[in-house]
Amino acid sequence: GKEFTPLPQGREPEESGLAAVRRTRDVWFTERNRRVALSLKHKGDKLFDARSAYQRVEVYDTFEYGPMLALDGMIMCTRQDEYAYHEMIAHVPMLRHPDPRRVLVIGGGDGGTVRELLRHSSLQEVVLVEIDQVVIDASRKHLPFLSESLDDARLQIHIADGKEYVQETDDERFDLIIVDSNDPVGPSKGLFDEAFYRNAHRILKAEGILITQSESPRFNSAVFRDVYRCLGGIFGPPQVHCYLSFIPTYPTGMWSFSFSAKGGLHPTAGLDMVRSDAFSKQQGLRYYNAAMHAAAFALPPFVQEMLPHAT
Ligand code: SAM
Repeated sequence: GKEFTPLPQGREPEESGLAAVRRTRDVWFTERNRRVALSLKHKGDKLFDARSAYQRVEVYDTFEYGPMLALDGMIMCTRQDEYAYHEMIAHVPMLRHPDPRRVLVIGGGDGGTVRELLRHSSLQEVVLVEIDQVVIDASRKHLPFLSESLDDARLQIHIADGKEYVQETDDERFDLIIVDSNDPVGPSKGLFDEAFYRNAHRILKAEGILITQSESPRFNSAVFRDVYRCLGGIFGPPQVHCYLSFIPTYPTGMWSFSFSAKGGLHPTAGLDMVRSDAFSKQQGLRYYNAAMHAAAFALPPFVQEMLPHAT
């Protein structure tokens, strides 16, 4: 028969111009709810698939977005767009806070947020509280670009429930808290309620900042409104801000973060734009720079009216 010439890695037969010498497995990973779905074609092998005590943890290698982590069928990060999330969740507070030394990350077991935080030499300590060891294992094994900093000497990892951790932590312990959670289902549910936010507020230092991934104004709009109403009730509405990042593999692509300042620090007024740009260039960042920091807080009217107050 015809000499078997293997396809160039990752190329579809029709794209590579070769006759289809083998049938590519037409396999798709689909994240769906009752009415909307997002599908990514992958190479067919399950790089990782385990059910932990908390969730199903899967890793696939997708054609368009590279290696992808999914939890309970929801896309968490992909190689091609994770930086738009991790750079914005970390550098907006880190470059606005006057002198961040101790940071708490809740969730974030893939390691992307920790990787970005540890780019800042001023940071003395990062505490990561991740409930599921299996996520860390999967990321260490298959997503080295995310988990590369999980062995940094400045990092302490606790395998624990973030809700309990903040309950047991003393007052005024952290300059910055980042809640890098799943959607408010399963283990993350407890990270979206008033008791959790009140404890987070309590363990922040006077000038401290709380950042949470706050879903999408276009997708989980009820959750989006609740988060901001709850945070406004604790920090005071003028201290709570919303900013956006564009992440194609998240539902609707328009994703949001909350920025709540215990001491009233404004997220953009007074930002040292020169320093932000210098940091971005020096670190080779691909999404964060000074202009994007400022622009991220510009909100369309349909989003502004979902917030309990005009920011
Ligand atoms: N960083 C990713 C991204 O780019 O969006 C997604 C978030 S990360 C994978 C979410 C993490 O939060 C998961 O590893 C999950 O196990 C963890 N998690 C969920 N509930 C938690 C809880 N109550 N306490 C600590 N970690 C939790």
